[in-house]
Amino acid sequence: MRTAQRIEILKTMDTRHTEHQDRSDSALQQRVDERTAELSQALAVVEAQKRELEHALRMRDEIQLQLEAELEDARLLHGISAMLVDEHNVGELFQKLVDAATLIMRSDFGSIQRYDEARGELQLIATRGLSDEAVSYWQWVHPGRATTCGHALLKSQRVVVPDFESWNDISGSDDLIAFRAAGVRAAQSTPLLTRSGRLVGMITTHWTRSHEPQERDLRLIDIVARQAADLIERNSAAEALQHHARKLVEADRYKDEFLATLAHELRNPLAPIRNGLAVLKIGKPEQAQRVLPMMERQLHHMVHLIDDLLDVSRISRGMVNLKRARVQLSAVIDSAVETSRPLISAANHRFTITLPGTAVWLNADMTRVAQIISNLLNNAAKYTPPGGDIELVAEVIGGEVVVRVIDSGIGIPAAMLPRIFELFTQVDGSAERSKGGLGVGLALAKRLAEMHDGSVDVESPGDKAGAVFTLRLPIMASTTNVADDDGSDGAPAKARALRILIVDDNEDAAETLSLLLQELGHVTSVVTEAPKAMAAALAFQPEIAVLDLGMPHLNGFDLARQLRAEPALRNTYLIALSGWGMEEDRARSRDAGMDHHLTKPVTLRDVEDALLKSIVAMGGGISKRS
Ligand code: ADP
Repeated sequence: MRTAQRIEILKTMDTRHTEHQDRSDSALQQRVDERTAELSQALAVVEAQKRELEHALRMRDEIQLQLEAELEDARLLHGISAMLVDEHNVGELFQKLVDAATLIMRSDFGSIQRYDEARGELQLIATRGLSDEAVSYWQWVHPGRATTCGHALLKSQRVVVPDFESWNDISGSDDLIAFRAAGVRAAQSTPLLTRSGRLVGMITTHWTRSHEPQERDLRLIDIVARQAADLIERNSAAEALQHHARKLVEADRYKDEFLATLAHELRNPLAPIRNGLAVLKIGKPEQAQRVLPMMERQLHHMVHLIDDLLDVSRISRGMVNLKRARVQLSAVIDSAVETSRPLISAANHRFTITLPGTAVWLNADMTRVAQIISNLLNNAAKYTPPGGDIELVAEVIGGEVVVRVIDSGIGIPAAMLPRIFELFTQVDGSAERSKGGLGVGLALAKRLAEMHDGSVDVESPGDKAGAVFTLRLPIMASTTNVADDDGSDGAPAKARALRILIVDDNEDAAETLSLLLQELGHVTSVVTEAPKAMAAALAFQPEIAVLDLGMPHLNGFDLARQLRAEPALRNTYLIALSGWGMEEDRARSRDAGMDHHLTKPVTLRDVEDALLKSIVAMGGGISKRS
């Protein structure tokens, strides 16, 4: 082979080798690249896993920290609950609540307030760290006051103020000055709401620097607030129960005292009446002149006591209906003074009356308003040592008439003033010192005044300094002088002689009524057994029959029906005589055919009035008594 040829072959071989070499190099490179890619992918995965792992580790640490914090909080709350539940002293309980709040909120000061429903304000009841000045300055906080609690009370939700200096609602207020003086810069107030949503108080925490409480702090204070609300609610329920129990014991004591006083006061008039009777029986006739007025007085006193008692009982049961009419104030006062003057004069008191210059008209039950005023006058006379001063001053103020009964007497201790109008309350209730009363008069006066849309109040500077009782009543719009509707001048009229049948199983009652009527010039017939009444009536032909209601064998209602059914007695005027005078009793006697209802014990005036009505009903004439 020629050299050139060989060279050519060698070149070709070399080229082929190079080509082969090249091919194998690029395959290698490719493999390297592939491997590199694989490796970097693996590395990325590892990196990602590492990051995940690191994240998980961080999360674990955070969760652990959080768990530790929550465990710590739970321990704290548990400790607080245990501390609160163990505490039964209310004052200490509130103090511990404040301590717990300041601990949880990491605050410098704290306070707890009780919500006073009657005043609608918050009252400070326990504090921590606040100065005495601050405590007295914020003793009461009304809704909307420039404090966090005032605003929280208004909104009934939490109020947080991180810096008082930049809180618009407080700028320029005295509260801001007080906060500065107390060293308070930030505060939060959380309302204490019961499960039913009732506000019972407020927990406030304060910081000396600007401060924004964290979410965790607020979560915890909410838990404490809920507990505090429950405890306050439970405590006030327990307090109310205790208060009730005390009231019951007190009421029981009052009842015993009252019964003793009642027995004493009812016995008192009985002794002179009994003595008077003995004098009438065995004494000289002229002595009757002296003992009768005395017996009458004592009887009147006794009837008055019993009437008062019955009145309060009826009023309490809503059984008293006012007989309102247009009445002149001066007439009411005259009537009251007429009743009370004997007592005032007997004690030698100086007594003055000042009335408004113009006529004043009331839409009132004359008897009842006179009863209020005479109760006040009687008390002034009783509780003022002899020779004292009593004044009655009536004036019109706005749409009201204000009647003041002013005395220079023994006065009323301040502690008794709020209770004086309660039933059976006497400043000195001992039977020996009760001045012939039962502690009923003022309760009665107050209730009667309220029934007239008025009021009675008392003021007294205290021991031996006298007392002022003030009655207020609305006046009628027109106060011009108009004559009374019935045109009567109030003087009792005298009836003509009448034939009167009295039916009562109580012989004494029947006999005395008969004597009284005979004294008035009438002709009477007495029947004490109801079944015999019909025959007696037919024989006697009475113009009037007075029938007791509660009688054995035949009661007054049935007897009335029988008499009414008898044509010969059709025009007889029937008067019921009963111990029961409520509206339902009157209605029953009306249903039975009675024309009039008298409540025992009847007075001469009652009888005269009833007879007059009967004459009017029968179309007879009336003559005024001079
Ligand atoms: P009573 O006079 O029958 O005891 P009241 O209800 O009228 O009952 O009065 C209650 C109590 O109030 C009296 O027992 C008395 O202690 C006191 N009181 C009433 N009026 C006066 C007064 N003008 N001055 C001082 N105390 C009074």
